[in-house]
Amino acid sequence: MARRMLIAGNWKMNGMPDQLGFFSDLHDQVGSPGVDVLICPPFPLIPGALDACAETSIRIGAQDCHPARAGAHTGDVSAALLAQLGVHAVIVGHSERREDHAESDAVVRGKAEAAISAGLVPIICVGETLAEREAGEAGLVVTRQLAGSIPETGRFVLAYEPVWAIGTGLTASLEDIAAMHAVIRGAIRDGDGTAILYGGSVKPGNAADILALDDVDGALVGGASLEAASFAAIVRSAVI
Ligand code: PEP
Repeated sequence: MARRMLIAGNWKMNGMPDQLGFFSDLHDQVGSPGVDVLICPPFPLIPGALDACAETSIRIGAQDCHPARAGAHTGDVSAALLAQLGVHAVIVGHSERREDHAESDAVVRGKAEAAISAGLVPIICVGETLAEREAGEAGLVVTRQLAGSIPETGRFVLAYEPVWAIGTGLTASLEDIAAMHAVIRGAIRDGDGTAILYGGSVKPGNAADILALDDVDGALVGGASLEAASFAAIVRSAVI
């Protein structure tokens, strides 16, 4: 199955209602780019973002969902609600959630399963810390996260995000990215058909080289997704 390039932006806890002009700016700069473009704003901005993208090919994602369909989970949001709003995908298991909210692989898998059941595409994040890389355990850690986080059935996207490269300006070397993506491709069910994104300080200046690597099917972009111009430059780097 051919894999389509996906460039996904993760706004994290950034963005305000008066910044929704981002979407028309982005659309003006990329048009219909021939690659999939997704932006994941904070929950309260999702309805406005969906409205702002209605006449464009930009899709909207969420940054998290709860494993349960509904119920007594104060402050959480269900995949079913996101799907009903018109959300396309949801990030699960981002290292900031694994760290800030002590999310285990089993919790991440539950979230991915809930997303699939609701008709969303989960973007399942994995990645090693600096200490784990320096101990020579990066491959082991990522393979273990994959085994624990991926649902048994259903379509998903993976994002390899070395924790030490997120928001730090440090990027993994092209060799290390290529090697880890090959490990991931070999370790997963439907390896050939599953998109594997790279994330970790992707910027307009390094995107083209990263996206040209064989097993890299796109990028998960944090900081550089906050400005339409820098995100558009990354999207253009993905268009062959
Ligand atoms: C991220 O949020 O997943 C991310 C990779 O952030 P940044 O691009 O800022 O490193």
